[in-house]
Amino acid sequence: MNKKYVIAIDGPAASGKSTTAKQLAKKLKYIYIDTGAMYRASGLCTIFQNVSLDDEIALKKMLDEINIKIEYAEEGNHIYLNGEDVSERIREADITKLSSQIAVIGIVRDKMVELQRKMGENGGVIMDGRDIGTVVFPKADFKFFMIADVKTRALRRWKEAKEKGENISLDEIETELIWRDKNDSTRDISPLIQAEDAIPIDNSGMTIDEQVKKMYSVIKRGSNA
Ligand code: C5P
Repeated sequence: MNKKYVIAIDGPAASGKSTTAKQLAKKLKYIYIDTGAMYRASGLCTIFQNVSLDDEIALKKMLDEINIKIEYAEEGNHIYLNGEDVSERIREADITKLSSQIAVIGIVRDKMVELQRKMGENGGVIMDGRDIGTVVFPKADFKFFMIADVKTRALRRWKEAKEKGENISLDEIETELIWRDKNDSTRDISPLIQAEDAIPIDNSGMTIDEQVKKMYSVIKRGSNA
């Protein structure tokens, strides 16, 4: 596989996109870009700079000056917002909600899409999100749409939260996932939707290894076609 492909992975919250994308990127020696982290960092930036989501002028100024950097490390990516490592802070519950709220705003999406296209312009990238195969890279070489039933997704998130020592119930996680899926898939701009030419992968009963193998074989087959 000499060609450096652009691989898009979209799907709802906690559908296993990032874990799979990370492992697939390692196997292919590609760069992994977690676009959700960019919306999370933008949300956090509004808190740091005390910018209201309704204040378009202040929001535009914030976006004009925003600097989001993703650094790749074996143990996980580091996200820097205007020079500060915010990798852990952006995973907290308030930012999870805020990221979905800020993601409905056109000028925010325009800025993120511009940055994402720049990051992926040379290929050799796996990008995960909600609109990668539909808007960011509609001509991506490979597109996958990951799904899993909401109970499975909630359980995965709950286990992760427990490992981190967070005190949150399975019910709370499920309610948050349902709210976020609805908000993400019913917004006017770039809603979460499967691209017509994306390959759906329902991973409810699959291990990460099985998903990675399946996607890798699709890419390998496609690269020989
Ligand atoms: O992927 P993650 O759950 O970290 O994304 C956080 C939020 O960012 C999502 O709920 C969604 O609202 C938004 N997002 C988006 N488009 C993307 C990636 C994330 O709207 N490409």
